[in-house]
Amino acid sequence: MTFISPSKIVRSYPDYLKRLRESLGTSVERLDFIGSIQANGKNYPIPKLVFGKGNPGRILISAGIHGDEPAGVETLLAFLKEKRFQKYPNELTLLPCLNPTGYELGTRNNHADKDLNREFKLNAPSPEVSLIRNEFKNPFDLTLELHEDVDSHGYYLYQKEKSATIGDLGRKILSRVETVMPVNMDSEIDGMEANQGVLSRLSDPGEMDWWPMALFSYSRKTRICFTLETSVKFPMATRVNAHLSALDAAITGFHDKEEAD
Ligand SMILES: [Zn+2]
Repeated sequence: MTFISPSKIVRSYPDYLKRLRESLGTSVERLDFIGSIQANGKNYPIPKLVFGKGNPGRILISAGIHGDEPAGVETLLAFLKEKRFQKYPNELTLLPCLNPTGYELGTRNNHADKDLNREFKLNAPSPEVSLIRNEFKNPFDLTLELHEDVDSHGYYLYQKEKSATIGDLGRKILSRVETVMPVNMDSEIDGMEANQGVLSRLSDPGEMDWWPMALFSYSRKTRICFTLETSVKFPMATRVNAHLSALDAAITGFHDKEEAD
């Protein structure tokens, strides 16, 4: 059993769960859990919410796989509080805090010092990753992952898609975000070639030694996967608004493309 020193805790996970319940209000009966992990003799349930079950166009929105990137977690609390899920005709699944011990410690890695977003190809990954992978038994059409970047001076995203039909959706998302936060227009971001804030993942999952959640998602037949990155150089409220704008642009843009096909 891994020991988490109470002096290292920067945020309370029970407080987060309380805020999650409060954000849900009358929708609190929707709160489910994909399972729990154990650390320091404590139980950390990993929350899940589904809205519009059975509706066409299955969308997954996730946050908090890196515990030191709290804007994504805050974004989904706001998304729920503002009942934004009511706006969309799709089946929406939310995994709003994937790394509870990292969240509590304020660390990228979990309590066992594992970067969960590097373990999606492992045969025996951390328990959190096993629980997340179970959620992909039925394919999603669109997955949206909320992250943050400490080095970037603006917003950007990674895009991976099955066909070229949704090719400009990444740019559409960023033109919405631009009204809230500048987009990183560098020609190279995080060591990859970038096109006006869009990083296209070129390699196929089979070519890679390790997978982030987005490539696992892609390998499980998700048609389009976005990893959305705010810049932490802005206040939390700006980062949350940037992510909320990106989610809205992604979901409405995806829906409009579907209607047009
Ligand atoms: Zn991250």
